Amino acid sequence: MSKYTIGIDLGGTTMTAGIVNENYEIVGKLTWATRLPRPAEDLEKALADLCRTVARDNKVDFADIKYVGIGTPGSVNFTTGFVGFNTNFGYYDWNLGPDLEALLGCKVYVENDANAAAYGEYIAGGAKGYNDAVVITLGTGIGSGIILGGKILRGFNFAAGEMGHNVIVKDGIQCTCGRRGCWERYASASALTRETKAAMQADKNTIMWSMTQDIDHVNAKLAFDAAAKGDETARKVIDSWIEYVGVGIANVINTFEPEVICIGGGVSNQGEVLLAPVRAYAENETRNITTGKFPVICACQLHNDAGVIGAAALGSSI
Ligand SMILES: [Zn+2]
Repeated sequence: MSKYTIGIDLGGTTMTAGIVNENYEIVGKLTWATRLPRPAEDLEKALADLCRTVARDNKVDFADIKYVGIGTPGSVNFTTGFVGFNTNFGYYDWNLGPDLEALLGCKVYVENDANAAAYGEYIAGGAKGYNDAVVITLGTGIGSGIILGGKILRGFNFAAGEMGHNVIVKDGIQCTCGRRGCWERYASASALTRETKAAMQADKNTIMWSMTQDIDHVNAKLAFDAAAKGDETARKVIDSWIEYVGVGIANVINTFEPEVICIGGGVSNQGEVLLAPVRAYAENETRNITTGKFPVICACQLHNDAGVIGAAALGSSI
């Protein structure tokens, strides 16, 4: 009985393959540049080469690999391993799963990268040990992965679980998806950065001006750092942003009533400074629906390894 699987986190800049053991621990990993643009067949050969190399480097016989799992951007048909559309890579109709199976001679599972990372948190991170979990990543947008009864919620055409594109403000800020007022326009890390810049423009006395090189270097951490030093303008930015995070988390609770909600992305490094007020806001909003029994709201734990571990566990997600 094979002890190992391989998980691949395929991104536009780098691709990382990890050998993962039965306890969902990475025993060895290897990162190569993705080197886009390149033809799909060429990238598939590189992925196969990456898998064989990481196995060899870690003295694992490739014949002992149970299967390979890949998390990739794009709309992925998990059943066929077919990637319908991948804007980042410029591929249409990419037959990734079957092609890589032919190259490697083993089973290959393909999943959307956000779902794979959420599944990693579910199987070995912040949501480990729960049946129903929602993983929310606050980044450039808001990524989400929903796992109910141990299964990833995929939708009939594999586009389910886009919590970031639920409208929370009708006729609100224009979103990349075409709608206006999506949650991610207000509660992503980018939204926090945008509001921090706006608050600085409006207040030349905030200490945030002395804490950054210039307005172009403002990031999502600045307002947290300034608020911790007692800056009122930063405090207001944070309080307002956290309420928007809380609105969406309350929607998650009212929709799925998961046992646990894990929050990830760089901003989750703020820990309880972020989580405690989000929890308080969301609990207050959902009290009458949940009758006071709230999900656990915690930070993601696996950070950059979530994608590799989740991909390596995809065989259990069916
Ligand atoms: Zn949207």
